[in-house]
Formats: sequence, C-alpha cells, structure tokens
Amino acid sequence: EQTKMYRDTWAEINLDHISYNVEYMKRHVEEGTKVIAVVKANGYGHGDASVAKAALEAGASSLAVATLDEAMALRKKKIAAPILVMGASRPEHAGEAAARNIALTVFQKEWLSQAKEYVEDGEVLNIHLKFDTGMGRLGIRSREELAGIESVIKEDKRFLLEGVFTHYATADSLDNGYFEKQLSRFKEMIGWMETLPKYVHTSNSAAGLRFPKAHMNAVRMGISMYGLAPSMEIKSELPFQLKEAFSLHTTIVHVKKLHKGEKVSYGATYEAEEDEWVATLPIGYADGWIRKLQGQEVLAEGKRVPIVGRICMDQCMIKLPNEMPVGTKVTLIGEQGEGKIPVDEIAGKLETINYEVTCMVSSRVPRIYK
Ligand code: PLP
Repeated sequence: EQTKMYRDTWAEINLDHISYNVEYMKRHVEEGTKVIAVVKANGYGHGDASVAKAALEAGASSLAVATLDEAMALRKKKIAAPILVMGASRPEHAGEAAARNIALTVFQKEWLSQAKEYVEDGEVLNIHLKFDTGMGRLGIRSREELAGIESVIKEDKRFLLEGVFTHYATADSLDNGYFEKQLSRFKEMIGWMETLPKYVHTSNSAAGLRFPKAHMNAVRMGISMYGLAPSMEIKSELPFQLKEAFSLHTTIVHVKKLHKGEKVSYGATYEAEEDEWVATLPIGYADGWIRKLQGQEVLAEGKRVPIVGRICMDQCMIKLPNEMPVGTKVTLIGEQGEGKIPVDEIAGKLETINYEVTCMVSSRVPRIYK
C-alpha cells in the first residue's frame, strides 16, 4: 500500500493499537461472539487494508464497509475475509458481490426479485437483512415486509440468509431509554422469523462496550477499534482503555522573524505583536486541515504553539516561542515529548465528533504504518 513519499506531511497509524483494541473487545464480549471490523471510509481514514489485516490477525472474524466499491477495493488488495456491505447496493451488482464472497444488506423484496437474474446458477449471494428498529435510515419495519423477503429467499438457492441486523441511534448516550426500545423492538422482530440466520448483530462500538448482554452473536466494531470513544458522554465509563491509532505530523519548511506590525497569510488577519518567530508548515485545508482550525495549537519541540493567520490550501503558519530549524517535526494530532493533542481536542475545536476528524484528513496525506 505504501508508495514513495515526497512530502513532509504524513499520518502515522499505529497498527499495534488497532490490534490491542480488537483484542480487548474480543475479551470483553461473551465467548463465541464475533467481532466484525468496520473499515468503511478507508478505515475511518486510517487505511482500509492495513487496518483490516491488523484487525483480522487480532481476532476479528470478518469486515464491514458501507459500499460495494469499498468491498471491491479490499478484494483488489487481496483481503480474502468475508465482507458485509452495510449500505444499499444496486440489485444488478448482486452477481459481482456473490462471486467475491461479499455479503449485501437487503431490506426490500423488490430488490431481491431484481437481483435474482444477476446471480449465476451455482453462485450464492450472502444476505444480511436489515431491520429498522428506530434509526430511521435503512431497514424493514413490518412483519409483511419480512414475510415477503423470506418467501423470496426460501424459494431461491441463489440467496442465502446469513445474517440479520439493526443499528442503534443512541447507544453512545447515557440515557438508555431509546436504546432499550430499539433492542426490544429488534427482539420482537427476530421473533417473527421462522429460523434465525447464522449472524444476529446489533451492536456498534458504544453498545458493544456498554451492553455485553445485548451482543447477540456479533459486534460491529468501528470507532473503538481506532482507539476513539464513541462519544464524550460515555468516555469516562469505558470498560477498558482504548489506544488511539491515528496521529498527524508535518515538518517546518521555513522559519522567519517577523517584526512588530508585520502580517501573516490571506486577509492579513494576523499581526505580530512584537518581534516573533513564525514558521510555515506544508499542510492546509486541501489536506483536511480546514480553515476553522485557525488558532488551534500544535506541538513543536514538545511545546504547544498556535496556528496564526488563515490556513491556506496547502500551508499554514505557526508562532514559535523561539527560533527552530527547518526540518523540525510538528505534531498536529498525537503525542510529542510530554505533549499530546488527542483527536477529541480537534473534534472539540471543530464542534464535531472524532469520527469526522480522522475521515477528513484527505487522501493527499500519506498514511505510514508502524
Ligand atoms: N454498523 C453500522 C450500520 C454503521 O453504520 C456503523 C458506523 O457508523 C457501525 C456499525 C460502526 O459504528 P461505530 O463506529 O460507532 O462502532
């Protein structure tokens, strides 16, 4: 996956931490419960295949992604483990999925009727049936819909009902009311089925960590595999410590002394209050280091220093407490010396969730694996 790197900006992915998080989830779930490693969106920005390999070696049994394209990309990278596409796919792609042992999510009878003709005789498409128990996104909601789908699957050897699942809307909230409602609705809905498929799964990271009794027989582990808490609300009550895998670094490419009154960057919004050292970093909003991060601190020589002036497309500037040489490593996310900037700090600054932060670091930033 790694190609020659010319630029001095990179994300470092600690695969040992991915393995650690998966191993601890494996220990936390009841025996026999499988861990499905969620590697959609290029492994939440960490790199799909590298994360997939680490997770599988650490005990995950299979993978989940959002789109068929993501599943195909993993197959191209020689990942052979079973993959579930959790989002919607087109029925005409059922044959390609079946041929590559990629399971698709189904929630419409019409979809199955259309998909039939695309699966060749002798091929089998693995299906996970999605129940909408309150997320209001994808999934069947009524007994009639289930009966229709079950009847098509039963009549056709080209379809194998391998799993049934749902997704929680509020498992990361301390108020468990809505979660309980969704869980009991799910139990009611699986009660309508004549036979249960091999995999029955409901839990994302938050539910996986907090409600071991509700695990059914597989947990879909996303954010916690990357060492990040599913929400700030439940961060302090996690059953084991998570280890962050993502860090972001760059290198000072230019340093100068500004005199009092001299300005920095577009709009000339920053003005030196006295004689001060300012350095230029080769990272900008096209790397996902967006303009709203103006004023955010980064680590240089282990010290926190602020970004000054507007963030440009490819570069930004920081104010230094002292002169530093060109080539000095700067950490934007992660640890340096005694300093640490967690992903959650960036999420806080951007008034968003940690999920968005690692996903938004663009593909222009190479991922380096340790
Ligand atoms: N299952 C589904 C259907 C999802 O959409 C996601 C991610 O959003 C996950 C599981 C993983 O969730 P988390 O990253 O919170 O563990």
